[in-house]
Amino acid sequence: MLQVRRHSQVTFLHSEVLDRIPRIVHAFSTRRGDRNDFTLGPPSSPNPIVQMNRARFVASIGAPGWPIIKLNQVHSGTVCDIDDTSAAGEAVEGDAAITALQGVILSIQTADCIPILVADSEARAVAAIHAGWRGTAAHIAETTVLRLMEKFGVDAKSLAVAVGPHIGVCCYEVGDDVVEAIGDAAVFERRPEWPKPHLNLAEANRRQLVRAGVPEGQIEISLLCTRCREDLFFSYRREGKGSGRLLSVIGIAP
Ligand SMILES: [Zn+2]
Repeated sequence: MLQVRRHSQVTFLHSEVLDRIPRIVHAFSTRRGDRNDFTLGPPSSPNPIVQMNRARFVASIGAPGWPIIKLNQVHSGTVCDIDDTSAAGEAVEGDAAITALQGVILSIQTADCIPILVADSEARAVAAIHAGWRGTAAHIAETTVLRLMEKFGVDAKSLAVAVGPHIGVCCYEVGDDVVEAIGDAAVFERRPEWPKPHLNLAEANRRQLVRAGVPEGQIEISLLCTRCREDLFFSYRREGKGSGRLLSVIGIAP
């Protein structure tokens, strides 16, 4: 279970497995700032309120003024190497970012999809992953772990992973195209009262992480559904295109 915290009027979620690693700064945002409209992503960008909220969010979690790397997310399996901060400013297209840079924030924007934050036990490298059904079908979580191992020589056994708030299996009805694309019947749930199957996104991604070598006990999964918990989260399925956006962030302190 992720822990709810509040600092400088901003409410966010923290992961115990990531908290145990010195120098790792991380958080999953909620919609609660002064009111319940603390959006960290624009339905249409650029938006001065969003820029202000983002700066306030990273300051409240202990990373004031750090450059924020924000990907142009396209529901792909593409992992981006962040080797310098010139990528701050939405230029890079992809759905996961990895870095060993210190004093830089990697960010993932969601409103129902899964945000996944990763760090190794010595804080040598971090990753942030965006996985909806398409990214999951493209094995983005698994690919990201393999890239971390390959590029930074970290051992998958030393990784801690936090899977943030996302649309739960309770609410994530999908069509046959999704069942076919994911190709693993065990991650879908069917109930007599549901007209269509529901996808358990967290379980699909958990399986990928374990397959890549991450120990099960080092994977922490949020049980909160973004669509059910209107008090805490924005949800694309509940609110549509104009919905606010949540931001999940991770970085290494210098
Ligand atoms: Zn739900």
